[in-house]
Amino acid sequence: MRKPIIAGNWKMNKLAGDGARFLLNVREQLPEAEKVEAVVCAPYIHLPLLTEAARDFPVGIAAQNMHFEDSGAFTGEVSPEMLKDILVDYVVLGHSERREMFGETDESVNQKVKAAFNHEMTPIVCVGESLEQRENNETFTFVEKQVKAGLAGLTEEQAKQVVIAYEPIWAIGTGKTATSEEANDVCAHIRQVLKDTFSEDVSEAIRIQYGGSVKPANIDELLSQSDIDGALVGGASLEEDSFVKLVEAGA
Ligand code: 13P
Repeated sequence: MRKPIIAGNWKMNKLAGDGARFLLNVREQLPEAEKVEAVVCAPYIHLPLLTEAARDFPVGIAAQNMHFEDSGAFTGEVSPEMLKDILVDYVVLGHSERREMFGETDESVNQKVKAAFNHEMTPIVCVGESLEQRENNETFTFVEKQVKAGLAGLTEEQAKQVVIAYEPIWAIGTGKTATSEEANDVCAHIRQVLKDTFSEDVSEAIRIQYGGSVKPANIDELLSQSDIDGALVGGASLEEDSFVKLVEAGA
């Protein structure tokens, strides 16, 4: 059985103090870690306060990006070593907003995935097609390419620990959710690709989240699908009550 993983992606929202207060308020209400993995993905400067507030509570803290080198002349960047040093255990990689607006490529995502494993962090690797690609029936081939390139060169043991977030770009922040069947079809295809590329063990172990306008009202149906093991949630993760409900849905 795959343990559900519900992650709130705050994107570029909240001031650091508001983020810390959020965590102090929700941390006692979250279900046990044995039932569901809860994660908050926050801007870099929130992370030290959040890892402190999360200590001994069933919630993990994720960065929303990182560089792949440990140190060096990379002005404005944050390294995996720096994140691990402040007890960050997860990192979101290849979000479509980073691919579209900040030049993230499959190759850079792959370098970062490997760097995450070098520092014992869990990568949440985002994939997903545009509306145009969906309309041209390119969803499966495009997402397959992203998954293969993002996970290239990993050992089976590493691949099992990756979390994949399938987020169709047209469903992000638009209020348009993929139907649970549409979402599940792509997640099932991703699992098949993992089976063909790695092994059945990997495909059975790896967790695949759906993301794109997930909210308390639709999460149950999404999670009831055979190949959806969690959610990566933007807007609806910003409110305390709503975040707690989303995590509870996974338990
Ligand atoms: P929304 O839940 O706001 O659609 O955002 C989805 C997303 O991009 C999460 O990473």
